[in-house]
Amino acid sequence: MKVYKFGGASVKDAGGIRTLAEIVSREQANLVVVVSAFGKTTNALEKVLKAWLIGENVYHSLLEETYKNHQSVIEELFTDKTAVSGKMDISFARLKEYMLSEKRRDYDFEYDQVVSYGEIWSTIIVAEYLKTNFSDVEWLDIRENLLTDDRFRDANILWSESANRIKGIFDFKKKRIYVTQGFIGGTVAGQTTTLGREGSDYTAAILANMLDAESVVVWKDVPGILNADPKWLPDAQKLDEISYKEAVEMTFSGAKVIHPKTIKPLHNKNIPLYVRSFLEPGGIGTIIKADATLKKIIPVFIKKEDQILISILPKDFSFVMGDNLSRIFHSFMLHGIKVNLVEASAVSIDVCVDDERPKVDSLINDLKEEFAAIYNEKVEMLSIRHYTAEAIERITTDREILLEQRTRSTVRFVVRQV
Ligand code: ASP
Ligand code: MG
Repeated sequence: MKVYKFGGASVKDAGGIRTLAEIVSREQANLVVVVSAFGKTTNALEKVLKAWLIGENVYHSLLEETYKNHQSVIEELFTDKTAVSGKMDISFARLKEYMLSEKRRDYDFEYDQVVSYGEIWSTIIVAEYLKTNFSDVEWLDIRENLLTDDRFRDANILWSESANRIKGIFDFKKKRIYVTQGFIGGTVAGQTTTLGREGSDYTAAILANMLDAESVVVWKDVPGILNADPKWLPDAQKLDEISYKEAVEMTFSGAKVIHPKTIKPLHNKNIPLYVRSFLEPGGIGTIIKADATLKKIIPVFIKKEDQILISILPKDFSFVMGDNLSRIFHSFMLHGIKVNLVEASAVSIDVCVDDERPKVDSLINDLKEEFAAIYNEKVEMLSIRHYTAEAIERITTDREILLEQRTRSTVRFVVRQV
């Protein structure tokens, strides 16, 4: 069996869903189809959530608008709307009822309860549409089977508990095509969780791992993995094949083409990942696998924006290594802050992280008894894999370099635009 994953950009309108069905029709193998929320639905639901949490009634109209977008897709796709509209209306009523209740918990919890509806709605519509084309399609609610802990908005998979359920529920003797949600899961107690923004790729990889898939295909609106974001460097070139290691390095450095957590579950079972173009389904795309070689070694450029560079210094001028280091990193872990780059000197440590101010502020607050912190805000982290002097020159001119770090294969700069 294979896992196909379709992201929001692929399923942004009725035309996208028709293309999805065409792509599915070309595949003979048993299939798990993992779908994200339509287009910008996740962002729209985030706005609904924020308005609702601060008690602004505009949330009603924002929510209706999002729902209407789904209804207009239904209008275009279905001649008989009874089944799909029935299911959608029940789901929508459930969310509205939830939002009428007075009880509010913290932001992360409510985020998952509300924003997860984007994936529920997209998969209802995709599954019902596929049913009009194929006889053996089933919709599955992944929340009952992909179990996670209760770290809302960034939930961790409970691997062994989930694997048994997943193997039981995706039964290809019963159906050939299963449609399910990316990005979301559920706790043992039955509460909805999410796996982090853009997490549907990760879902596809998890399911592939648990079901021993022969491959995963992520269908995207780009021809494959490029050596740079073409919006930044317009002469970006497609990479035909890359290794798991290369893919991990690239996504960790900030390449947005697939979610960073996607590679590990695939690597562990040696399952190849194809990144292919939804717009040109005949193209070969990029393959990520164990024994891949970069046929022609070219520099790969990655830019991570909205970063903060924090210098942390023990107030008593003690060395930063040793106890101080473990204290500092423990604190990063507790606050759920991912470290993108570290550079240590004798009495200070520089850390580059995503600009998530509330989290960073509470971290610094925690450390403030013993450590002083200096910030450089609005910086970027630029990385080049397989760098050359020319490649470095190309992306660092017009930028003030605050920090530079080199290994044999990668150079990284924390920079500020001048
Ligand atoms: N819909 C979610 C998001 O936009 C998950 C995903 O697209 O992978 O973040
Ligand atoms: Mg998305």
